[in-house]
Order: sequence, then structure tokens, then C-alpha cells
Amino acid sequence: MSYDNDNIFAKILRAEAPAFRVYETDGALAFMDLMPQVPGHTLVVPKDAAENLFDVDPDILAATILAVQTVAGAVKQAFEAPGIMIAQLNGPAAGQTVFHTHFHIMPRFEGLEFKLHAREVEDAAVLASHARRIRACLPPQPPAP
Ligand code: AMP
Repeated sequence: MSYDNDNIFAKILRAEAPAFRVYETDGALAFMDLMPQVPGHTLVVPKDAAENLFDVDPDILAATILAVQTVAGAVKQAFEAPGIMIAQLNGPAAGQTVFHTHFHIMPRFEGLEFKLHAREVEDAAVLASHARRIRACLPPQPPAP
């Protein structure tokens, strides 16, 4: 499969589609998952036209994993989560549904089950409030476009 420039994350990166943004660097952008599997489910995407992990420019991948570390720390603090799960799916056989590389950050609590993957769109007010909580645990960022 070749990279589709009109995939939803490419549109979010170009600010052509809405997202509840939480963090941005020269190499990566983080925003709330629209269909969270747990409260606080956040995505980090590299600023590279890369379908999966194997296609990402190494320097951009390095910047992306640093953003994952930073945002995961903020998610952990914002949700007072005892555990944080990082997931990254490559190819339909692995369950990938959006073909622009991304990392999932998910707060985990003993006994709190996951919702099904990419099924139920969360209320916008909830996502906005979760994004605010995470942003409050991150260094100040310029206003979102
Ligand atoms: P994956 O299956 O690993 O490719 O994950 C794709 C993720 O993107 C799923 O968790 C979806 O809920 C999420 N998603 C799909 N569309 C959007 C969107 N417009 N904004 C934010 N997250 C999205």
C-alpha cells in the first residue's frame, strides 16, 4: 500500500481536520483519540508521510518517541494513572486502521477494561476537558491553529 496524503492524520497535521491537540514539536503532534479505549487515550504522530514504523525517517522517529515520552508523562500525571500502556500497530493484520504511523498512549488502572478499538466516538466536551487536563501537565504551547 502506498501512503495516502488524504488519510485523517495527514489532514489533522495540515489542520484540515479538527483534533483536540495537546502537544506539538517540530517532529510530532499529539492529540486525543476520537474513539478512546480508556479515558485519556492520546495519539502521537510523526510529521512524516509514513504509513508505518518501518517507513518513518529515523530523525523524525527519534523526535516522535521523545514526544511520546513527554506526553505519556503528562497523561500519567493528569489521570493519576498507576500504569501507562504504549501501543503501535503496523499493518491491517496487526489491527492498524489509520495508515499514518502513530503511537497510542493509554492510562491503565487495575480492573479498568478497554473499550473496543476505534468504535465509539467520545463526546467532544469530554475530549476537550481531557486535552485541557493533559496540556496543564505539559510545558506551555503556542495556541492551536
Ligand atoms: P490504529 O488502529 O492503530 O490505526 O488506530 C487508529 C486510531 O485512530 C483509533 O484508536 C481511532 O479511534 C483513532 N482515530 C480515528 N479517527 C480519528 C480522528 N479523526 N481523530 C482522532 N483519532 C482518530
